[in-house]
Amino acid sequence: MSDTPVLSPSQPAAPGTAPKIGFVSLGCPKALTDSELILTQLRAEGYETSKTFAGADLVIVNTCGFIDDAVKESLDTIGEALAENGKVIVTGCLGAKAGQAGGDNLIKEVHPSVLAVTGPHATQEVMDAVHTHVPKPHDPFVDLVPAQGIKLTPKHYAYLKISEGCNHRCSFCIIPSMRGDLVSRPIGDVLNEARALFEAGVKELLVISQDTSAYGVDVKYRTGFWDGTPVKTKLFDLVARLGELAKAHGAWVRLHYVYPYPHVDEILPLMAQGLILPYLDVPLQHAHPDVLKRMKRPANGEKNLERIQRWREICPEIVIRSTFIAGFPGETEAEFQYLLDFMQEARIDRAGCFAYSPVQGATANELPGAVDEAVREARRAQFMEVAERVSAAKLRERIGATMQVLVDSAPALGRKGGVGRSYADAPEIDGTVRLLPPEKASKTLKVGEFTRARIVAAEGHDLVAMPI
Ligand code: SF4
Repeated sequence: MSDTPVLSPSQPAAPGTAPKIGFVSLGCPKALTDSELILTQLRAEGYETSKTFAGADLVIVNTCGFIDDAVKESLDTIGEALAENGKVIVTGCLGAKAGQAGGDNLIKEVHPSVLAVTGPHATQEVMDAVHTHVPKPHDPFVDLVPAQGIKLTPKHYAYLKISEGCNHRCSFCIIPSMRGDLVSRPIGDVLNEARALFEAGVKELLVISQDTSAYGVDVKYRTGFWDGTPVKTKLFDLVARLGELAKAHGAWVRLHYVYPYPHVDEILPLMAQGLILPYLDVPLQHAHPDVLKRMKRPANGEKNLERIQRWREICPEIVIRSTFIAGFPGETEAEFQYLLDFMQEARIDRAGCFAYSPVQGATANELPGAVDEAVREARRAQFMEVAERVSAAKLRERIGATMQVLVDSAPALGRKGGVGRSYADAPEIDGTVRLLPPEKASKTLKVGEFTRARIVAAEGHDLVAMPI
């Protein structure tokens, strides 16, 4: 759960100047792309953004309602914005959450003076509320909007959201009740956005959604059009086109939130050919079939270990990232041991683990066999010990190899070294590659550019490398 406070410089609005909107974006990358859409629309209509609540004519808070800490952070931020500014519009996941005292909206219950509340992916509703309280400025400079829209990420990487919502009903998750069923974006729109991003200098495109493998299921894989040619609204077709676009721009495409369905196997040859990164973020959450069934996980009948082995046969360099939950209701000692064994056999490169914690409104709360909190935490710690051993061993295997590294930071043109990432590291969630000062005086490092680097050491989750 990261947060991205307000953008761009500003002073309090002076008479005759464009109205200024304060914006706070809380939550996951999917919420971030909602924020980008709203900010793009605001800019398109001639609004400016304000760095401070007090200097804004109105504040928009994009909230997260995933876990209790995120709810608290969102409610606190709304409170701050109300205290410092007074005019506040709230959007995002928390906006769709029911109140606790019988009201139909939690935010209205806690902060009755907010001007408007919407759920997630509601750009138009948010804009309507903005227009009501801070009228649109005249003669908007539409041409000032960059073709790729306004991005909150650094210039060299960007998230590309391909769908909204989810058709699954995992028992620990309330996202579908907040974001609704799967709605895939038209393939032509997605590809146009990708092309605009690459043309604007993006070197790494991170494909996200709630369930990337389900892209197009809701529209029965309808045939759309892009560049005058028919293209199916289907993951393979999308990824193949994205790979071609990325290749033409010397950029990377990385896939997140992919479930281990059989049709995902088709994508592996694209990775082996180098069209997209050999990296898959597959949130498995557990390995034992009975726990997966109780979790109501997508693809819970699949044999994940065999699937991962097959992926490695097709594309040996594939890196797999995953997240797991320890201490899910009813998890026995034997089921947990099964998970540990799976982790060692599957050799998941990057794994995260949460101790199960009940989320208000999730059906898992009613499952029998709640695991004691101390046991949940002990299992999480035990899992992470195993995961870190696996990950460290895999990182050590890279010592001596030469890898392509995308530079994220390089003060003084890299004379004192820098920090980057290889194909094995997604931004924010995985490790990094610490780049040593180049030996050759003529070698420089620039943010957003690739460098070849020889791996010389492994340190925790990270690698150390010499740029060459
Ligand atoms: S796949 Fe499951 S965990 Fe993911 S959003 Fe859908 S219901 Fe939630």
